[in-house]
Formats: sequence, C-alpha cells, structure tokens
Amino acid sequence: MFAALNEKLQGVFRKLRGEVKLTEENIKEAIKQVRIALLEADVNYKVVKKFIDNVQSKAIGEIVLKSLTPDQVFIKLVHDELVSILGSHTSKINLKPNPPTVIMLVGLQGSGKTTTAGKLAKYFQKDGRSTLLVADDIYRPAAIDQLIVLGNQLKTDVFYDKESKNATEIAVRGVDQAKKSAKDIVIIDTAGRLHIDEDLMKELKSIKNAVNPDEILFVADAMIGQDAVNVAKQFNEAIGITGVIFTKLDGDARGGAALSIMEVTGVPIKFVGIGEKLDAFELFHPDRMASRILG
Ligand code: GDP
Repeated sequence: MFAALNEKLQGVFRKLRGEVKLTEENIKEAIKQVRIALLEADVNYKVVKKFIDNVQSKAIGEIVLKSLTPDQVFIKLVHDELVSILGSHTSKINLKPNPPTVIMLVGLQGSGKTTTAGKLAKYFQKDGRSTLLVADDIYRPAAIDQLIVLGNQLKTDVFYDKESKNATEIAVRGVDQAKKSAKDIVIIDTAGRLHIDEDLMKELKSIKNAVNPDEILFVADAMIGQDAVNVAKQFNEAIGITGVIFTKLDGDARGGAALSIMEVTGVPIKFVGIGEKLDAFELFHPDRMASRILG
C-alpha cells in the first residue's frame, strides 16, 4: 500500500532538490503536486484541503529559513502534517486496573473481525495476559467455528452457544465466564452485515449497554477505500467507537482511507493488520506510517 503515493511524493521532493531556496513559486508548484498525489491516493477531499492549507502556510513561513535545503524543509513539513492527520501519537488499548478489560469488535462482514479477534488475543498473550474470545455472531455458524479454530491454535478459551439466538445474552455470559476464570481480557466478536442496517445497530447498542465495554474497536477493511471511512463514521454516530483497526494494509489499496479516518471520525487508529497470519498485526504508530509513506 502507499506505493503510488510514495512514488509521487518522491517526485515532488526530487524537483525541489534542484532549487536553491524555497520561493512562493516553487512552493506553489510542489503543493499542487502533493494535492494531486493525495487525491489520487483516495484521501478524503476535506482532509486534503486541510493538509494542503497547513503545509502551504507553514512553507511560506519557512522561506526565510536558510539552514536547510528546500526539499528538506518541504519533506519535514509534509511528514509532520502526515503524522498530524494520522493522529500524532500511538493510542494503546485502555486496560482496566481490575480485569477483565472488555473489548468489543464491530464492523462489516468480511472486514476481518474474526481474524482480528485472534490477532488481538495473540498480541495480548505475548504481553503475558490471558484472554477469552466470545463468538457473538449468532447468524453465521461458520463464524463461530472460525473463532473456535483460532482459539485452538492460540490455546485460548472460546465462549460460544450455538443454540442461543440472543447476542446480548451471549456477550453477558461470556464476560461472566471471563470473570469466573480470571481472564485479563475478553474479546467479543460481534456479527457483521454486508451493509449497515438498523437491526445490526440495535443489537450492537444492546450488547454495549449490557457489558459496558472498555473499548469498542471498529474493524475497517482498507481495500474498500473511502467506504470504510463512511461506515466508520456511521458506526461512531450510532454506537460510539473508541478506536479503529485497519486490516489488509498489506494489499494494494491506495491508502487514502487510512489517511482520512482519524480526521473524519475523530477516532484514532489503534492497530493495523498486515496479512492473514495471526502475527501479521501491529500497534499503529503515526510517525512510522508517515515515514513509510515518504520512504
Ligand atoms: P469477518 O467477516 O469480519 O469476521 O472477516 P474475517 O476475519 O473472516 O476475514 C475476512 C477475510 O479477510 C479472510 O480471508 C481473512 O484471512 C482476511 N484478512 C483479515 N485480515 C487481513 C489482513 O490484515 N490482511 C489480509 N491480506 N487479509 C486479511
């Protein structure tokens, strides 16, 4: 991901490298190219506008700064603005002092929720914490089986009830089970749909009210581009989310969704999925991502 954006930005910086100093003229041209590069990468147009305005006003202010070459000044400005739109700092999971910490995963079907439940469990296990996975997709028995398989692989308990048709009740019993067995973290894998619908939102709200989760993480598929941002916005407005996990960042999506989501929703990206395997998962660091984009 970000390959095309990286290439375009490199081209802009290369051009500036030949300049003796930053002038209004060459800033204007460089800014224009950055704007095109961001739009082509599918970044939300409002986010692009803010980005460009900020870089432009700062670049004009830097004209007098003589110690750095124009391309160095400009790269730093773009880097800092990227870090800013990506959320500035790393946002970890809020672990409760008295366990279990309850994490609810929400998102559309196919976004990678179930895989991410396994990845999160593995992430916490590495940290020496015990986990319980709750299979709360009452509509798709295959999703329950998928979580059971992951639980076996990870040697972590999975709470499920294939007979029950009440997702709220399953979540409550899952959290009770985690309390009884003194688990540090409960991860609830909720149902998804192909599209947002009223019933799903009602169910998620009911689960939220019943188990009072410490984190509601929206699992977003980077491959669906700006739709992921719009869906995140709707989930946030309907149930309130505390973080985003971007999956499939290893794919060839243009990356604009990941660059837009924090600005559009106000909710930070907390983790990224970078492959199908359970350890293809990382805490999200805005500065590292910005450096990766700039190459
Ligand atoms: P759910 O319907 O939201 O529970 O989605 P799943 O967890 O079943 O994932 C849907 C598909 O996406 C599966 O084929 C996963 O292997 C795949 N997937 C999930 N996360 C990633 C990721 O970070 N990278 C890649 N390449 N594939 C992923």
